[in-house]
Amino acid sequence: MAWLVKGARLLDPARGIDRTGDLLVDGGKIVRVGGEIRADGEPATIEAKGCVLAPAFVDMHVHLREPGREDAETIESGTRAAAAGGFGAIACMPNTDPPLDSQGAIRFVLERAEEAGPVQVLPIGCITAGRRGERLAEIGDLVRAGAAAISDDGSWVESPLLMRRALEYARMFDIPVVTHAEDKRLSAGGVMHEGEMSLHLGLRGIPAESEVVAIERDVRLAELAEGRLHVAHVSTAEGVAVVRRAKERGLAVTAETAPHYLALTDRCLAGYDTNRKVNPPLRTAADRDALRGAVADGVIDAIATDHAPHPLHEKEVEFDAAPFGVVGLETALAVLLTYLVRAGHLPLPRLVECLTSAPAKILGLDLPGLAEGADASLVLFDPEGSWVVDPSRFESLSRNTPFAGERLFGEIKALFLGPKRIVPRPKSGGGFLFPDEEAR
Ligand SMILES: [Zn+2]
Repeated sequence: MAWLVKGARLLDPARGIDRTGDLLVDGGKIVRVGGEIRADGEPATIEAKGCVLAPAFVDMHVHLREPGREDAETIESGTRAAAAGGFGAIACMPNTDPPLDSQGAIRFVLERAEEAGPVQVLPIGCITAGRRGERLAEIGDLVRAGAAAISDDGSWVESPLLMRRALEYARMFDIPVVTHAEDKRLSAGGVMHEGEMSLHLGLRGIPAESEVVAIERDVRLAELAEGRLHVAHVSTAEGVAVVRRAKERGLAVTAETAPHYLALTDRCLAGYDTNRKVNPPLRTAADRDALRGAVADGVIDAIATDHAPHPLHEKEVEFDAAPFGVVGLETALAVLLTYLVRAGHLPLPRLVECLTSAPAKILGLDLPGLAEGADASLVLFDPEGSWVVDPSRFESLSRNTPFAGERLFGEIKALFLGPKRIVPRPKSGGGFLFPDEEAR
C-alpha cells in the first residue's frame, strides 16, 4: 500500500527539516521526502496543503490502568486514544495492580500491546518491589524483559539510600530513573495548590515545596550516583529553577511537564471541577509562565500527557474525595497548539521537538523521522482545524478532561505507522478512528 502526501509542511526538527513538499510512503517505508514527487504506480494521494507532516508523537508518561483497572482504561483502549492523539509510541507507568515490578508483568504489557495494534508501548518498570519503597525491584530483569525506564510514579522513593542505589543500577543499563517528585510528608491531605486560591476555596493545599525539595534531593543523588534522572510532570517555577541549575552543572537530568500545567492555573478550580484535580496540582499563573519559558528554552525537555483515566463515578464526588488525574492523549496537540503556539509562547518546531525527538532520546527510542528509507511513523495534522472537545467521543474509556466543551485548534488528519494508516472517521471532531481500508 502506497500513499503520496502532497504539499504538506514537512517538519522534523531533529533533522533540521522544515519545508513544504511531498512525501511518499510505500510498503511501510518512507520512499521519498521533499520537492514535488511523481510516483510510479498509483499511490493514494492525500492533498495536505496547510497541514503539517511530522514524526508520530511520543508520549513518555501514560497510565494504561491494565492490569487491575480495566474499567478505567485498557492497553487496547489506551493505545487507540494514543493513535487518536497522533502518538505512535507511548511509555506506560507501572502503578497498575499488580504493579509492573516483574519480568512477567513487563512481558504481559508488551504482549497485550502487540495484540492491540500499531502503537508502540514502552513499559516503565518499578523502582521498588510493589512500589512500596522498601527494597529495589529486580531492575536488570525488568530491563531484560523490555522496560525502557524505571519509576515508582504516584509515589516518591522516600529513602535516599534506595534512590541512590536505583540511580546506580539504572546507570549500568543506561536507562533513566523517572522521579515523581513529591514529598508526601509536605503534601499530605492536600487537594490543590497551596496559596491564595486554596484559602479562598477552603481546600487543603499542596505547597510548591513538596515538589521542589524532592527534585533538589533527587538531583543531589543523581550527582552522587552519576545516574540519569528524569523529573516527571514539573509544575512549579522553583522546580524549573532546580532543573535549570542541575543542567548548568552538566548533570544528566532531564524533565517533562504536561499540557494542563502549560494551559491552566489554580484559578480554574473556582468551580470545584474534579476534572481539574491533578497531582501535582495546577499552580499559579507565575508557575505556568515559568513552565512555558522553560519549554521554550529547553530546560524542560519534553511534554508528556500524564494521561490518567478515571471512571466517571469516581470523579463525580466532592472535590476532596475525587482521585487526582486527567486524560490527555486525545487533546494534547490541540491544547498545546491553542494555548502555546497560537498564543505566541512557543514556535511550532519546538513543540514538535517536545513531542517527538526529545522524549524519544530520553527513553532511548530510535525515532525514524522524515528520512528516506526509514519506517513510516508519521503524523499529519491541520494546525488551523478547530473542533469542540466532546468527551463522549473519546477512544479512552474515561472522560475526565478539563477541556470539555472547549473549542481547540489542531486536528489530527492521519497517522502512518508502518504499513498501517489510521484516519479519523468523517466529521468526528477528533474522535473515532479506524485502520485505513483503502486496498491498493
Ligand atoms: Zn506522577
